[in-house]
Amino acid sequence: MGDLYALDFDGVLCDSCGESYATAAKAAKVIWPTLFNDVDSSLEDWVVDQIRIVRAVLQNRYDNLLLVRLLLEMRLPSIRKSSVAEGLTVEGIVENWSGLKNLILKEWGEDKDALVKLYFQVRNEWKLQDLKTWIGANRLYPGVADALKSATSVIYIVTGKQSPFAEVILQEFAKDTISPERIFGVSSCSHKIEILKQLQEKAEHQGLKLHFVEDRLATLKEAITEPELDGWNLYLSGWGYNTQKEKDEAATIPRIEILQLSDFNTKLK
Ligand SMILES: [Mg+2]
Repeated sequence: MGDLYALDFDGVLCDSCGESYATAAKAAKVIWPTLFNDVDSSLEDWVVDQIRIVRAVLQNRYDNLLLVRLLLEMRLPSIRKSSVAEGLTVEGIVENWSGLKNLILKEWGEDKDALVKLYFQVRNEWKLQDLKTWIGANRLYPGVADALKSATSVIYIVTGKQSPFAEVILQEFAKDTISPERIFGVSSCSHKIEILKQLQEKAEHQGLKLHFVEDRLATLKEAITEPELDGWNLYLSGWGYNTQKEKDEAATIPRIEILQLSDFNTKLK
């Protein structure tokens, strides 16, 4: 019996935190030009590592803009304007992102809508004007490209990203492994669930063992509530964007298996 894998993209195949940082930094330099005066590449690497940890609790891509400034304020007392940056830890941010977000916006005297607009404007312009460097700010997780190249299973991608962008990233890092018609860009969690239903209905998929790999626990829990999806094996990507708390919760849910990256790569091959 063959296998069918439906894979989320960000946090399963692709680590996009480098791109999140770079977009946020570009936008931050527009509104807060002096913020980066004392930022060197090792501090930048540190910021990207912290984004990877906090990413699971961010509510919108634009949150990266706030997060980058807050992280820099934590490390650089000279630029500190918010009352919370001193002594704050990344665990503290994960615990209370919503509260912190509102507070820093107020203390920085910034207008949320204007920042949202700026963030997406910068991101869209970057993609339009220089797609190659935008793609290059992303990466596939170690071993994933080889696993995709040698995979014998039927693989689909079901992602919250717009499908053309998932497509160009895959083309760059794992050329010709997944054809565009097997990449579904979805607008919501329920839309993702709908795609899984459609995949299992297809005549050519009858008899295949079904697997869904996702880094967002809420999406897997949503899948569990759908009796139609009872035939799917559900996996949480242990290397993706989820918190320790979510991993601990997933460990108590019998339907969900927590995968490690090396096991995932082996499974695909
Ligand atoms: Mg994801």
